[in-house]
Amino acid sequence: MAATKAYGAQSATSPIAPLTIERRNPKPHDVQIEILYCGICHSDLHTARNEWHGTIYPVVPGHEIVGRVMAVGNHVKKFKVGDLAGVGCLVDSCRECDNCKEGLEQYCTGGATFTYNSADKESGGLTYGGYSKSIVTHEDFVLRVSDKLLLAGVAPLLCAGITTYSPLRHWKVGKGTRVGVLGLGGLGHMGVKLAVAMGAEVTMLSHSPSKEQDAKRLGAHKFILTSNEEQVKSVHHYFDFILDTVSANHDYNFYLGLLRTNGVMVCVGVPDAPAQVPAGHLIFGRKSIAGSLIGGIPETQEMLDFCAEHNIVSDIELINIKDINEAYERMLKGDVRYRFVIDMATL
Ligand code: NAP
Ligand code: ZN
Ligand code: ZN
Repeated sequence: MAATKAYGAQSATSPIAPLTIERRNPKPHDVQIEILYCGICHSDLHTARNEWHGTIYPVVPGHEIVGRVMAVGNHVKKFKVGDLAGVGCLVDSCRECDNCKEGLEQYCTGGATFTYNSADKESGGLTYGGYSKSIVTHEDFVLRVSDKLLLAGVAPLLCAGITTYSPLRHWKVGKGTRVGVLGLGGLGHMGVKLAVAMGAEVTMLSHSPSKEQDAKRLGAHKFILTSNEEQVKSVHHYFDFILDTVSANHDYNFYLGLLRTNGVMVCVGVPDAPAQVPAGHLIFGRKSIAGSLIGGIPETQEMLDFCAEHNIVSDIELINIKDINEAYERMLKGDVRYRFVIDMATL
């Protein structure tokens, strides 16, 4: 075991502050990565503040991890010292259930191990995430990262990228699909870039008037301010697919009205209040409301390769780790363009 510098929360009300964690020494199939950049996902904030009621403290958030391989176990085939590497939201799974066999480890019925706040089969304790100097992960859960892209901008692909890529692929979004992306934050801006790259017609649905120019710059074909009745009316019964990335409680019925017949609204945002949807809002128009969780390891690699091919990275604001609590507050206000990424050299 090695003492490793990190940042984490000691309780739901305490700030994110320095602490020391133990990382295991690399086993034969492990890759040890020096973390260079870690993105800040809204799930980090939900977890640090126990908004989903399952946090065990201390918690070290961070699941948008990129860095350089420092050491490998003697059976590791995929990586060598010096390679770039990434770790997303998953670090292990049962590997035996139907979902694991299909590469859908995020839906592992034997219990996936998430990068933080998850029972760690190796240590018997908890997993700790990427707000730290290094991480040790089984090679099967480590991703290859292109050296052609800006590395700090690649970090958010490991969660925001795959969480939006996976449902776009599953529901076969492409040329001719009218896509609405709801919420222009970390996930939303990746949703816009990826749906545009897949050939869809993309409309940004936002409650922030100040984001219109950015939405267009990111590639959105239209911008609808959700508080503007006239604008909203123009997209009634319009979309084939709505990707809902909103982190705060909101009325799902309002957006179901924007779907055309057979349309689907996929929720990836996780507000704490339950969705209240009368069956009639689905029945009239044969509409669906669905959910989607990150993506499995093969699809995460496919997404990283797709982004390298299409020159897609996240738009980021690089921060010093000492400014993390201010970054959380700004994220809560929607004041992030469009992902905070921690420069781990500042730890
Ligand atoms: P984020 O950067 O904070 O973006 C959330 C966006 O939601 C904001 O930028 C804002 O967009 C919109 N929003 C915020 N408050 C709102 C309000 N009161 N009313 C309407 N819209 C509001 O967060 P993120 O990192 O993209 O994460 C978004 C959600 O996805 C979080 O709940 C997170 O936990 C969840 N998540 C889920 C998965 C999964 O696998 N399903 C993976 C990662 C994250 P506008 O200003 O444009 O309206
Ligand atoms: Zn995330
Ligand atoms: Zn499994």
